[in-house]
Amino acid sequence: MAGTKTLLMLENFINGKFVPSPSYIDSYDPSTGEVYCRVPNSGKEEVEAAVEAAKAAFPGWSARSPQERSQVLHRLADLLEQSLEELAQAESKDQGKTITLARTLDIPRSAYNFRFFASSILHHTSECTQMDHLGCLHYTVRAPVGIAGVISPWNLPLYLLTWKMAPAIAAGNTVIAKPSEMTSVTAWMMCKLLEKAGVPPGVVNIVFGTGPRAGEALVSHPEVPVISFTGSQPTAERITQLSAPHYKKLSLELGGKNPAIIFEDADLEECVPTTVRSSFANQGEICLCTSRIFVQKSIYSDFLKRFVEATRMWKVGIPSDPSANMGALISKTHLEKVRSYIKKARAEGAQILCGEGVDKLSLPPKNQAGYFMLPTVITDIKDESPCMKEEIFGPVTCVVPFGSEEEVIKRANDVKYGLAATVWSSNVGRVHRVAKKLQSGLVWTNCWFIREPNLPFGGMKSSGVGREGSKDSYEFFTEVKTITVKH
Ligand code: NAD
Repeated sequence: MAGTKTLLMLENFINGKFVPSPSYIDSYDPSTGEVYCRVPNSGKEEVEAAVEAAKAAFPGWSARSPQERSQVLHRLADLLEQSLEELAQAESKDQGKTITLARTLDIPRSAYNFRFFASSILHHTSECTQMDHLGCLHYTVRAPVGIAGVISPWNLPLYLLTWKMAPAIAAGNTVIAKPSEMTSVTAWMMCKLLEKAGVPPGVVNIVFGTGPRAGEALVSHPEVPVISFTGSQPTAERITQLSAPHYKKLSLELGGKNPAIIFEDADLEECVPTTVRSSFANQGEICLCTSRIFVQKSIYSDFLKRFVEATRMWKVGIPSDPSANMGALISKTHLEKVRSYIKKARAEGAQILCGEGVDKLSLPPKNQAGYFMLPTVITDIKDESPCMKEEIFGPVTCVVPFGSEEEVIKRANDVKYGLAATVWSSNVGRVHRVAKKLQSGLVWTNCWFIREPNLPFGGMKSSGVGREGSKDSYEFFTEVKTITVKH
């Protein structure tokens, strides 16, 4: 429970105003394990108020030209950029990520999301075909769907929230967003900028709280026809069930069990540090992080040696330390879950080469109760092990050898997920061949996490339904109509 310290108190943002909540939940600082903030524990009533506001704002906002909406989004991007340092500090404290990552990735990218969709909304065209023999012209028109429900996770809080909110409002929808109850602070800070940016009241509403209360109230609301969700697979199942009776449009961006495939002709100078980063960036709490590393037998021991050495250099530190590569995990429960996978692997006879239980973590006294762990490398593990099949979403990666190209493709595809893969080889033919055969929505070759927001982003199999990006997000947040004119 909250002590006597002054806690940061968040409020819902509905119809352009901050609204206090009758009840609150505690939010923890992952680097100390202490409660430092209280988040509204919203439910049906707050969602209902947000729906009323979003409904009232829709006619005015959707009637504006794309150029007018674009200008508002650019102003919001400017304001986020002007508050970069303040937002980065807040994101790092709230989530446990390093200040460096918040400064260089989370907040710049959140601002860029508004800038990107402010621009892309100006460049969509509709389709037109002719049927001269029948004297007909067919064309399509698109219109915003209405009120968009946006539900986002805790790993990249403002980044993923704005990645959905920006295309939704750019296309003329109004939005009700529910960020993760564990990382709500930067969304609340962004609300303070909306009026200055020229976002009219009711266009963006943020209702804070838990999934089962605020989230389900939003998903079940009959007047919210479109839900864009990023989070875990079990939550996606629940959201699908709740929205089915209303035939809602759904976009689901879910987890991954992402393979890295390293062939003997890979440039290890480039591959080793990138694969350390792809395994442990943001404490391994990125849906795109690598968690299964397949290395061709002839270079297996060389790779493993270099990889473990480089992992040991990946510094775990308090989030405010600019030299830290990794901060704290999001919660005690999550830390325990991640550790339980390592325990299982050990019990199965796998080897833990570095990290948890092998090396010693040193932290300042005030951070001893924080949710820290060392980046951990596991080997001698079977493909059937839970560590090789299930999403751990923490700083744990498994390294295993493979023989042939055919074999590794089969093993890489043998999980229920299909989000992201990386392939390392200097043979361009092989790179194209393997990338095509991987069951994965994204394949990076000889690199990782270089994003092109114009192109589709998303997963196949249990990693999701739908794609996001310039054209895909526009199509998702609009309804299309085909019109036929006979002349
Ligand atoms: P989560 O599913 O627990 O929660 C995500 C959001 O859903 C939160 O806002 C939560 O409050 C809400 N929620 C929970 N239960 C709900 C319910 N019954 N109804 C409505 N909303 C509900 O996920 P998380 O733990 O916050 O995030 C981690 C997961 O997100 C991982 O699986 C990760 O891979 C995935 N993820 C995917 C992507 C992607 O783009 N594919 C990106 C980031 C994270």
